[in-house]
Amino acid sequence: MKPSKITRMITRDGSARVHVIESTAIAARAMAIHRTAPTSSAALGRLLTAVSMIGSMLGEKTDALTVSLAGDGPAGKLIACSDWMGNVRGYIENPQADPPRKQNGKLDVGAAVGRGTMRVLRDCGGKEPEIGSVELVSGEIAEDIAAYFAQSEQIPTLCALGVLIGKNGECLSAGGVLVQLLPFADEAVAARLEENAKNLRDLSRVIAACPEGEDPNLRLAALALEGIEYDVFDEIPVAYRCDCSRERTARAVRSLGFAEASSVLAEEEAAGRPARIEVGCRFCGKKYCFTKQDIEKMFGKKKD
Ligand SMILES: [Zn+2]
Repeated sequence: MKPSKITRMITRDGSARVHVIESTAIAARAMAIHRTAPTSSAALGRLLTAVSMIGSMLGEKTDALTVSLAGDGPAGKLIACSDWMGNVRGYIENPQADPPRKQNGKLDVGAAVGRGTMRVLRDCGGKEPEIGSVELVSGEIAEDIAAYFAQSEQIPTLCALGVLIGKNGECLSAGGVLVQLLPFADEAVAARLEENAKNLRDLSRVIAACPEGEDPNLRLAALALEGIEYDVFDEIPVAYRCDCSRERTARAVRSLGFAEASSVLAEEEAAGRPARIEVGCRFCGKKYCFTKQDIEKMFGKKKD
């Protein structure tokens, strides 16, 4: 599968900046890790697509972004995290959530996510991370992202996201467009951008129909920016990437405290299993195993 990438553009008059992403590989990887049912695949794929674009706007190498959706729908909680270059990882609480389709045959992501809040946390190296939150508008994610920027950051934003799922539950295509008005944006350009947003209703089909050898990002850009002059200023490769490690997992185990860790080991032994603590990463499924010896060493209890 082709690696995903973000293309960043600016309108020639400086009215808006535009991010476009073809994220099929990212969505497919998330679906394989979390074994999601079709509606959950679309929900998680859309969220990762948006968070990759927003993450690519972070300024410093150590910056990180986390967007979580806490809705009352059957999908439960969704989380997506991005590094400063738009590489993402994500999690969905109930990957099997798959409510009935809408009357128009589309996957009902809004019903899977439900109503509740979206929380955006930017960790930019300061003591306190910046946190913003907004009520979910529809749970369809694109509208919720746009509402977040409008309400919490006062940035007029258009967002379109799409994940196309095949008959066998596979990912056929995924992508997104994020348009943000810059200060002193021209009103006519803003109105045209809003008009053009209608071109993006089926953007996952636009990507799926893109002929081999043609850049789907430029196709989406041409639709989003129809009738407006613009310049492409860069392209960023992005991927589904987890940064978990044994060291980081060990810190989490250590935070349990020796008494709690020992009682987990004792429970394992009592159940006839080897005395060890196994911790799975919720973003990539990788398992880290800590034996009784590891735990004793971790807490400095080893007698030697
Ligand atoms: Zn991981």
